Amino acid sequence: MEYTVIAGTDMNVSRIAQGTWAIGGWMWGGTDERESIRTIHAALDKGINLIDTAPVYGFGVAEEIVGKAIEERGHRDKVFIATKVGLEWHNGSVSRNASPDRIRNEVHDSLRRLRTDYIDIYQVHWPDLAVPIEETARTMQALWQEGLIRAIGVSNYTPEQMNQFMSVSKLHTVQPPYNLFERQIERDVLPYVRERHLSVFAYGSLCRGLLTGTMRPDTKFTGDDLRQSDPKFQPPRYTQYLNAVQKLDDLAQKRYGKHVIELAERWVLDQPGIIAALWGARHPAELDAVAGVLDWHLDADTRAAIDQILQQTIANPIGPEFMAPPERHTVAA
Ligand code: NAP
Repeated sequence: MEYTVIAGTDMNVSRIAQGTWAIGGWMWGGTDERESIRTIHAALDKGINLIDTAPVYGFGVAEEIVGKAIEERGHRDKVFIATKVGLEWHNGSVSRNASPDRIRNEVHDSLRRLRTDYIDIYQVHWPDLAVPIEETARTMQALWQEGLIRAIGVSNYTPEQMNQFMSVSKLHTVQPPYNLFERQIERDVLPYVRERHLSVFAYGSLCRGLLTGTMRPDTKFTGDDLRQSDPKFQPPRYTQYLNAVQKLDDLAQKRYGKHVIELAERWVLDQPGIIAALWGARHPAELDAVAGVLDWHLDADTRAAIDQILQQTIANPIGPEFMAPPERHTVAA
């Protein structure tokens, strides 16, 4: 495994992190607790020591599974738990709430579900415009000063929002969406974090499985799996993205003897500023490709060839915006 230190902390984290949204089941067609625990143990066996989760993933289920998996293994101090705060849910519908009261309540719920007395990296899940960002930030900084959390992070924030946040609080990590197909952060967030030496966790690094090379034209998703409405998985775009994946796989095989999944993860890890790629595996075998990602680099010519493939095959690119929970500008009465 490759490791790196989160700037401003002494946490030496693996550059591939286990993501647990799918493990929570909600929006991914359900979950299997034992299989999920086996997956987390497989990740730990591969040297992955960073686990990203959130209260909203399965409305508590993912955090509970992470807590059980770590407790079963022991060695809590060898694992870095990154969880989140600032979303709430009522009857299955999710809304933003990053108010001080909500954060104070949520941190204790997360600690209980995770079976721990501290959180390594605590991230505001989405900006909440109904609450001044400084209020959210001050509350996060207070939790850090109290020793309940070891590092402060934000997710899905713009540079302006991060500026506001950092005017009153420390900030260690930033979690935006980033993969070969979803590169919007190259315009603003990436230059911003590089200049300020913030550590980036890239989420959706496999583009919800699209970049694994296992998707087929007739692949069907069941239950509430979000890929039934993900615009990349709908015609005519789906065919374009599958063509791109095939061409990327050919390129990876020809130049490096690798597959598209290894190329896609390496591409993310090779971008300056990205310290870890989040990999949303939910079966142990889905982590088999981890070894093939490590200890090599893409050359400039291959990066250019990748860009050319994307330009030639994807006529209607689209980003990950469909995943954003509804914004609120005023506090609900
Ligand atoms: P992802 O990692 O790009 O894709 C996850 C899906 O990829 C899995 O559900 C699985 O699909 C498939 N997969 C993984 N490895 C595979 C393999 N070897 N072969 C075939 N399929 C494979 O997407 P993600 O889970 O959305 O993102 C990763 C993590 O980032 C999340 O788990 C979460 O921790 C974090 N995240 C954060 C935010 C945020 O707002 N901060 C948003 C999204 C995600 P199947 O289930 O079909 O097997």
